[in-house]
Amino acid sequence: MKIVNPASGAVFAEVHADNEKAVRAKYERARAAQPKWAATPIRKRLAAIRAFRAEVLARQSELAKTLTLEVGKPIRQSRNELNGVLPRIDFFVAESQRALREQKVHADAKGRLEERIVHAPLGVVANISAWNYPYFVGANVFVPALIAGNAVLYKPSEYATLTGQRIADMLHAAGVPEDVFVVVLGDGKTGAALVRQPVDGVFFTGSFATGAAIAAGTGRRMIKTQLELGGKDPIYVCEDVDPKNAAAALADGAFYNTGQSCCSVERIYVHEGVYDEFVAAFVAAVAAFKVGDPLDEATYIGPLTRKPQLAVLRRQVADAKKKGAKLLLGGNVIKRKGHWFAPTVLADVDHSMLVMREESFGPIIGIEAVADDDAAIELINDTDYGLTAGVYTPDAKRAKKILARVHAGSVYWNCCDRVSPRLPWSGVKRSGMGVTLSTYGIQTFTRPKAYHLRSV
Ligand code: NAD
Repeated sequence: MKIVNPASGAVFAEVHADNEKAVRAKYERARAAQPKWAATPIRKRLAAIRAFRAEVLARQSELAKTLTLEVGKPIRQSRNELNGVLPRIDFFVAESQRALREQKVHADAKGRLEERIVHAPLGVVANISAWNYPYFVGANVFVPALIAGNAVLYKPSEYATLTGQRIADMLHAAGVPEDVFVVVLGDGKTGAALVRQPVDGVFFTGSFATGAAIAAGTGRRMIKTQLELGGKDPIYVCEDVDPKNAAAALADGAFYNTGQSCCSVERIYVHEGVYDEFVAAFVAAVAAFKVGDPLDEATYIGPLTRKPQLAVLRRQVADAKKKGAKLLLGGNVIKRKGHWFAPTVLADVDHSMLVMREESFGPIIGIEAVADDDAAIELINDTDYGLTAGVYTPDAKRAKKILARVHAGSVYWNCCDRVSPRLPWSGVKRSGMGVTLSTYGIQTFTRPKAYHLRSV
């Protein structure tokens, strides 16, 4: 398998991909090793995760460079991700013992009958991951899964293979046995082979199309399946905001990581009372972003990680222009080696256009004027997705009323493109099923086993 630098298109490493037979052998190793790991006291499992955190911290600059080389993420943003994963690990380390403790939920008056809940690990779980935030989306799964006593077969995205290998090296150096965290390398074919193994759970981060294909297979086998999928994340800007401040915040929310975040702002609705000023300030903010070599400290926008996405963006721009949108910035592939698309702002868009309906996952945004809150809410909910949605207004009452009517896993008031380890991360509709992060995202790697205990 060739590892390509998306900033130049050059192959800079080659890695051996796992075929079906190799995947099977890895599964069997994990299956054999899991009971001993589950029997290891939780304080020892936590100690290994703490040591992993120390490894991440110690190797930060080398890890950031690897991430930038294979994914094209601007180097400062690679470092931000590596810094940001530390408090997530801290959250899991601090909360897991409480979240996983055995609970006595009933005892009769004579003390003869007891009812208890025990959080038993699922067993061997497959973690199939995405490339856009490999440390974040990876750690959301493998850290709590390991703490809970599972063995993990971890398949990084084929676009973040070297990072996946580093993660495995660090976990092993930290004391997680090699057969308890096993890295599986390859593309979708390898991922499909992994899902075919008799695992006890599949935890997937990626696109709706792949997630739906996986769920169709695992559904018949009745195994736990969690899917963290895409989004078409909307924000509504009310007329009572400072348009410049809102525009600066939302430009960052839409274009950070070159727009390749599941919770990137993908649609903006602006109250007509402030539309013109907002659009002008937004275009100015985006035009100021530095596009360039992702290894350069000053770069804010890098290449697209995946070449095929260029065609998706080109099609969205052409479709919007044909249907009457105003192209205010960008709109084209940048002619240089690698996969580059110019930061693009489309105004006067509507829901007949692909740019407001299908996930863009790139440096492009559509802005639409709305007459009032009801119109904004209707458009926000007019989507196949439901990952995040938000509103900008100084008025708390108004914001709460609007957010209560929005159908999404996470909702934001005066913020966007934000994830917290303390809050559940989930989506509705095509954005997925199941929960990571928060205490729910720890317990999800276990089965709550019911004990009915009667002493004679
Ligand atoms: P993708 O679906 O192409 O690939 C995801 C993973 O699935 C990769 O590891 C890939 O090798 C594997 N895969 C592909 N086909 C498979 C198959 N048939 N069986 C098993 N595995 C298979 O997605 P991507 O391009 O890596 O990621 C981008 C998508 O991920 C976007 O839609 C984004 O919104 C979403 N995402 C969601 C979240 C979230 O938390 N909700 C976070 C990050 C990314």
